Amino acid sequence: MKQMTIKKKITLWYTGIIVVVLGTILVLILLFVDRVGISATEEEISAAVTGFSSNINFQDDSFYLDVDTKFYDNGIMFCIYDKNGRLLYGTIPAQFPEETILMSNTPRTISESNRKWMIYDSVYTYGDDDEIWVRGITSVHSIELFMQTSKKMLLIVFPVLIILIGVIGYFMIKRALRQVDLICDEVENISNGKDLSKRLSLPKAKDELYELSEKFNEMFERLELSFEKERQFTSDVSHELRTPVAVIISQCEYLLENENLSAEDKEEIAVILRQAKRMSKLTSEMLMIARNEQGEQHLMEKLDFGLLSELVIEELQTKAQEKNIEIILQKQDDLFMNGDQTLILRMMMNLITNAINYGKTNGHIHVILKVENDQIVGEVKDDGIGISVEHLDKIWERFYRIDKSRSRENGGTGLGLSMVRWIVNLHNGTIHVESIEGIGTSFIFRFPKI
Ligand code: ADP
Repeated sequence: MKQMTIKKKITLWYTGIIVVVLGTILVLILLFVDRVGISATEEEISAAVTGFSSNINFQDDSFYLDVDTKFYDNGIMFCIYDKNGRLLYGTIPAQFPEETILMSNTPRTISESNRKWMIYDSVYTYGDDDEIWVRGITSVHSIELFMQTSKKMLLIVFPVLIILIGVIGYFMIKRALRQVDLICDEVENISNGKDLSKRLSLPKAKDELYELSEKFNEMFERLELSFEKERQFTSDVSHELRTPVAVIISQCEYLLENENLSAEDKEEIAVILRQAKRMSKLTSEMLMIARNEQGEQHLMEKLDFGLLSELVIEELQTKAQEKNIEIILQKQDDLFMNGDQTLILRMMMNLITNAINYGKTNGHIHVILKVENDQIVGEVKDDGIGISVEHLDKIWERFYRIDKSRSRENGGTGLGLSMVRWIVNLHNGTIHVESIEGIGTSFIFRFPKI
């Protein structure tokens, strides 16, 4: 599953917390308003019923009402019942359940077919054993309506509010973390470009991100230093090894000319010579890589790619003939490019040498050079052993050899293709390989043409 970004995580967390906190507060407010509304109505109705009772005058076994008694006052309707619950005076609101039992001094809410009332009953005794009941009835519909409207409003407003908070929060966090994105981009550029001498630009504010950038820069500093030391070491070692290896080669060649040596001795010396030559190739390739990595300047000039390829093929003709391999060159005219001659020669040398080394005896190598859309497109194609799919990506790595003993036999070092790719990149070109095991391999490259 794709990992969620910090921006999304923070937004979700804080929006979630706001939903819970705000939701709880709003529910509590609604409950509180409902409660307050109800208890205010309770107080109002009980006071009104008590007030209404002052209209009732008791005399011995009977009672009478003041002439100006009002049965409706300020939203409250009053009714008078006898002790059997029979309505004596007043009118009850429509739909109000008539049989609601009388209960003294207890405010209650009564619901009936979507209507809601609050009632309050008060009992008064007179005469020997007589009593009358006064009931106040008021509609609590307005509170109910207010609550319902508020709930509906909240159902619409709440999600909109949350979405708004989420979106605004996301953009605020994005803004705050923009510096982190910038740092990521810069670090990526530095590591992609493999130029450890570059440094991150420091943010203006001296905050945590400033510190992070500084730490990154310190790390790049240390990395650069240790890479530099490693390169220097490789360069020094290769350089120091060149002379002794050259001496071994020349001494072996000198010894091989000695007529007095037996065939066996000569064979042994030939083995030493082969290994020394391999070592010489390795040291010179390592030296070349180290120098290139140290940023050695290259002489870029106008090159005739066709001509250089011809030179390389000519030089490798003897080696190809040892395996009876025919090298066929097909080239168009006008194959000019800007480049370093030594490096381009080296690249073609490595590709065609590999084609011979890993080619079949009596096989063919096609070197095809053409122009396509302002580019020189080249192909070195053999009908040799091929490369299996699992190795195709790895052959570009330094010292990667599929069959070590075979590579060693051919004098291979495992550095050839990594150098080829480096040379192609240096010349703003591209290269890729296509291969079928047992059928053959094709290296296809492109360079900008001039
Ligand atoms: P090496 O010095 O071993 O040839 P390279 O870097 O030139 O090193 O090549 C890496 C590996 O890729 C070789 O060891 C070989 O196994 C494989 N390879 C390169 N070119 C070819 C080719 N034309 N056909 C088959 N295998 C090849």
